[in-house]
Amino acid sequence: MEDNFVAHQLSPSSWSRYEECPRKYWLSRQRLPRKASMPAAMGTAVHNSVEDICNLDISDREESEIGWLPPTAKAILDRHWALEKATFLDTPRHPRWKDEMITKAHDGLVGALNILFSKSRMEKTALSEVSVGMWREVQSMVLANEGTLVSECGRLMGRLDLLVADLDEEGNSLGWIVADLKTGKPPKIDLNEKVSRQLRFYRDLLKQNNPGHPPLHAEGWYSANQTVHRADGPSVLDDAMTAWEGMRHSETPLEGTPDSQSCGFCEWKAWCPTWWAARRDGTLPPGGVFRDEVVNLLRFDPQSGAALFERAPPLGDDGEVGRSEQKFGALLRDQALTHMRELCDSNHEGPIFIGSAKADGKVMHLGDWSEVLPWTPLLKSIRE
Ligand code: SF4
Repeated sequence: MEDNFVAHQLSPSSWSRYEECPRKYWLSRQRLPRKASMPAAMGTAVHNSVEDICNLDISDREESEIGWLPPTAKAILDRHWALEKATFLDTPRHPRWKDEMITKAHDGLVGALNILFSKSRMEKTALSEVSVGMWREVQSMVLANEGTLVSECGRLMGRLDLLVADLDEEGNSLGWIVADLKTGKPPKIDLNEKVSRQLRFYRDLLKQNNPGHPPLHAEGWYSANQTVHRADGPSVLDDAMTAWEGMRHSETPLEGTPDSQSCGFCEWKAWCPTWWAARRDGTLPPGGVFRDEVVNLLRFDPQSGAALFERAPPLGDDGEVGRSEQKFGALLRDQALTHMRELCDSNHEGPIFIGSAKADGKVMHLGDWSEVLPWTPLLKSIRE
């Protein structure tokens, strides 16, 4: 048997991360403090609620009962929302929790249930009018939900949202639909290549694992506008296997490929020297109103949150930084202030990474949306 046989598995998200920037993927495998995000928490709450509603035990209820679905869905969402909130606030790095986003989550859940209902080929009905009997029919169409798919070789894996029967107008099954629920922005026309590939990945794994499968296709279900997008195209499993090879564990960091897109949303900047060197070299633009910096702290008043920073320019490409004449004042509030106080109390003396500092005036502003972390370029794996 090969070394590390199941030590790494490629999933659609790790594949995308690796493709965006191999170093980002490498850092994501280092068990560094995770960062929670509001869209991800919202997506999980909606997904888990859909799963629970699909699995709901309604065997002891009256067939004709109506008016039960909206309050049941809301109660289920409220429960998952509270669970997500607890996980989010427990995650070492997190911005402010936005309770008000539950409205969007609720709209997403209603959108998802409507798509599910439309797939049952029953006449379009408001959710408040869906009877217990009708929902039983929807449930009978769902063949599986939230299953884990693993390839025969164990190297590829994905979490399947829904596998439903593909029904025609008369309710006869034509085959299977593997569906992935999307709570993000729907595509204007076609699915982007990354999403299409992710959907085909589920499709192809399912085909591989079920040799006698009926006709099968993959769809993205966008809850925001209740649109369904089908992903067609050749198998992606060979490409996935090639990527898997490159994603093997490595003691030294994989190469970084900095650009505005991948670095913009990268949560591992405090551990990556590459983007900072790319900023110096002009290959990565400085960003707009919200920007990231590596700084030396010259003065800090823990009471008012006023700070004076000096930009710490990179020396070489491995994260070492120096001194400069570029000084700027900043005002820290809320979480940013707490984190800076903690950093000072821990007697941290080296450079500091500040993420998402708002630079729209003479003084920078840091708040709940920002990050304050020790600058810790990681040049060797810390995985056991
Ligand atoms: S900051 Fe940019 S270069 Fe560094 S790991 Fe992230 S995406 Fe890659």
